[in-house]
Amino acid sequence: MTANLLEYDLEGLAAFCERLGEKRFRATQLFRWIHQKGAAQFDDMTDLAKSLREKLKVAACIQVPSVVSQHISSDGSIKWLFDVGGNDAVEAVFIPEADRGTLCISSQAGCIVGCRFCSTGHQGFSRHLTVAEIIGQLWFAEHFLRKHLGVTDRVISNVVMMGMGEPLLNYEALIISLRIMLSDHAYGLSRRRVTVSTSGVVPMIDQLGRDCPVALAVSLHASNDTLREQLVPLNRKYCIADLFQACHRYLEFAPRDFVTFEYCMLDGVNDSPEHAAELIDLVRKGGNETGWCKFNLIPFNPFPASGLTRSPQARILSFSKQLNDAGIVTTVRKTRGDDIDAACGQLAGDVKDITDVKKRMGRRTIMLKSDLEMAGLLKQGVVHG
Ligand code: SAH
Ligand code: SF4
Repeated sequence: MTANLLEYDLEGLAAFCERLGEKRFRATQLFRWIHQKGAAQFDDMTDLAKSLREKLKVAACIQVPSVVSQHISSDGSIKWLFDVGGNDAVEAVFIPEADRGTLCISSQAGCIVGCRFCSTGHQGFSRHLTVAEIIGQLWFAEHFLRKHLGVTDRVISNVVMMGMGEPLLNYEALIISLRIMLSDHAYGLSRRRVTVSTSGVVPMIDQLGRDCPVALAVSLHASNDTLREQLVPLNRKYCIADLFQACHRYLEFAPRDFVTFEYCMLDGVNDSPEHAAELIDLVRKGGNETGWCKFNLIPFNPFPASGLTRSPQARILSFSKQLNDAGIVTTVRKTRGDDIDAACGQLAGDVKDITDVKKRMGRRTIMLKSDLEMAGLLKQGVVHG
C-alpha cells in the first residue's frame, strides 16, 4: 500500500524513512520539500538521490483532497470546497487582512455536537478527517496562493481550527496536524498564531494543554447552564463551571496567554444586559482579574433551518460596551465572505451531498492572478505581487 506522506509529522516521516531502509535525517529534507516548497512529485525533489526517489515513487504519494470549487468574495476572502470522498465535502476559507493572512480549516465532515445556531451541526456527523485531509487544506491554500500571486514567502500567517467539525473530538489527527503547522521544517507557525476552537470538550482541553498549548478559543454562547444546554448540547456533559476551570488549568500550560470566548449574538436569546452581567460574574468568579480572557462577539450568520436571527447592531455594540466597561477586552467580529457563504457556521451550508455541491457551487471557478488582484488581496499588502 502506498503511504500518503501528508499523514506524517516529522517523527512519523522519520519512522517511515527507516522502514524504507533510509536514514532518519532524510525525513527533514522530504518534509521541507513537501510543506515548504509544495512539491507533490518526487521527481521535483532534486537533491534527493535518484535511488531514493524511485523507492518513494513505489511506496509513497503526496495526495491532497481535490478542490471542487473556489469562490472569491468581494472582501478578498477565498473559500475552497474539498472533496473528501464518500459524498462528503469540507471547506477552508482564507481571510486576508492588512497584517496577516488567516486560514480557517475544517477538522471533521459534519459535526456531532449539534449546536442550534450552526449549519454544520444541523447537517450531522459524517466522519473524522485524516491528517492528510486537515493539513492538505493548508498545503493547498498556501502553495496555491504563493503560485498564483507569484511569491515565495509565506502567505498564511495564522491558522484557526474554526471550519467544520469539533477539533477536540478528532484529537489524534488534530495533534499531528498541529505539530506539522508548528514545525520549523514545515509551516513554522508560532504557537500563538494557531487557534483551536472548541465547544468545550473539557478532558481534551486538558490534554491539549499538556501536548501542544496553542491559542485556545472556547465557544461559550450563553451565560448560564440552562441557556447553554439549549444552544450547545455538549453543556449537558460539561457544564460552564467545569469549562471555566478547564480554561484556567489550560493557562497554567500557557501562562502569558489568554482564552478567547466566542459568543454568537442571537436576537432575543442571549444578548440582554442581564446576560452580559452574568458573563462578567463568571469571568470574575473566584476573585479573578478580567485579563485572563477576551470575548469575541460573532454576529449570528443566519441560515434558514435555524429559526434564529442576528441581534441588531446597536444591541451587539451595547453588549460589547458593557463587557469592555467591566474590564473584559471585547471585540465584535467582522463578518467576512458573506457573499460566498464563508462566514462562521455557514460552511458548506446544507450541502452534505457532494453531487449537490458540484451543482450548486459550480458557479464560478477562478484561477487567475488578476482575480486575486480584483479581490484586493495584493492591495491589502497581505501578499506581495
Ligand atoms: N466546533 C468548534 C469549531 C468550529 S465552529 C467550535 O464550536 O468552537 C467555529 C465558530 O463559529 C464557533 O465559535 C461557532 O460557535 C461559531 N458559529 C457556528 N455557527 C455560527 C453561525 N451560524 N453564526 C455565527 N457563528 C457561528
Ligand atoms: Fe460543531 Fe462547532 Fe458547529 Fe457546534 S458550533 S455544531 S461544535 S462545528
